[in-house]
Amino acid sequence: MPPDHEFVVVGAGLLGLATGRVLASRGRDVLVLEQAEIGHEGGGSRGSCRIFRLGYDDPGYVTMARRARELWRDLEQESGQRILRPAAQLTFGDGLHAVRDGMQRAGAPCELLTAGEAAARFPAIATGGPALLEPESCVIAADSALRALTAAVPLVRTGIRVTGIEDDGRQVRLRADGGNVLTAGHVIVCAGPWTAPLLATAGITVPSAPTLEQVAYLAPADRPPPGDPPPGDPPGMPIFICHSAAPMPYGLPVPDSPLYKIGLHQSGPATHPDSQDQAVDAALIGQLSRLAARHLPGYDPRPVRTERCIYDNTPDEDFILDQAGRIIVGSGTSGHGFKFGPLLGDWLASLACGERADLPAARFGLGRFSPPAAAGSGSR
Ligand SMILES: Cc1cc2nc3c(=O)[nH]c(=O)nc-3n(C[C@H](O)[C@H](O)[C@H](O)COP(=O)(O)OP(=O)(O)OC[C@H]3O[C@@H](n4cnc5c(N)ncnc54)[C@H](O)[C@@H]3O)c2cc1C
Repeated sequence: MPPDHEFVVVGAGLLGLATGRVLASRGRDVLVLEQAEIGHEGGGSRGSCRIFRLGYDDPGYVTMARRARELWRDLEQESGQRILRPAAQLTFGDGLHAVRDGMQRAGAPCELLTAGEAAARFPAIATGGPALLEPESCVIAADSALRALTAAVPLVRTGIRVTGIEDDGRQVRLRADGGNVLTAGHVIVCAGPWTAPLLATAGITVPSAPTLEQVAYLAPADRPPPGDPPPGDPPGMPIFICHSAAPMPYGLPVPDSPLYKIGLHQSGPATHPDSQDQAVDAALIGQLSRLAARHLPGYDPRPVRTERCIYDNTPDEDFILDQAGRIIVGSGTSGHGFKFGPLLGDWLASLACGERADLPAARFGLGRFSPPAAAGSGSR
């Protein structure tokens, strides 16, 4: 019997929707299944905004971000939604020179500012030293992005949890809660931090160490954030990332809002995705308030809103994009995957269609976690 669908994608977060969109745009039969609702509070794609930056110390990621930006633009045109909002980015701290090196090696524009120049041009961010200015960064309106992607996938079913996957070599059987069974020619698992337990049912081991992060939203203090940027710099508040310390502080302006979002990269406690405690973490909020007081003159360091959000971490912070038989895996985005969404969707769809995607297979393959003798991307 032919399978019920040519492709089933498990998970309607950023990666699952981006993959479903590409498959649908190629005229393929694809169903996307989501256990909850699009953008739900337990998923890693929730919330209003994300940083789009080219600033990585690794030129491979810089090049990927440039490619992803073109694909985001295509989605904007297709959907009529404004997804990328230009915003200058300031990178500062000890890692600044490594980021500059990575950008220069990839041919991405950046400008090194002295402490004085940074303070004069961007008085709203206290860098406390030299800073790298990225003129091509953006804030991603994440909620608009999810809406645009969802609208581009004809068949999305929410409220269905896949509980088991079995690949018999000819097709893939998916068991869902309620005892329902579905078959597919290929399954693309984009289940974020739920990927590891789900793939264990198919005998596939995926490393994952989810953490529950804490972000905070700040309102301007009585006085507005100081100064307007000089002509030529993108309008409004810049994004910032401080590479001095772990956990790494970052901040970004919230699109269409006076608020500013701040966080500390990979500072949250370990969690299981099914037992996330969404309560405010007072200790982390204390750290966030201190970082606001240090870096954001013009904002009240007491948050007006807070949010928890789950990271799907791999041991090396590189993503997992691979194939095992008829099962394709897209996960492990480790808190920095949003900016690459449409590119990762393109790569995963290509893998599912049996095409030689130009993704860096060794870097993102499951084989990198195996002992050398057993290594090899695509092996189970
Ligand atoms: C606080 C925070 C800040 C971030 N900041 C940035 C940033 O500035 N820039 C950046 O590039 N990235 C950032 N990221 C990372 C980015 O948001 C994630 O990499 C990305 O959203 C992950 O998408 P995903 O589709 O892999 O996972 P998810 O969004 O978690 O989606 C997985 C989906 O699968 C569903 N699912 C799971 N199991 C099943 C099942 N068995 N059956 C059916 N459905 C299932 C889940 O319900 C979920 O909706 C940030 C993340 C967080 C949490």
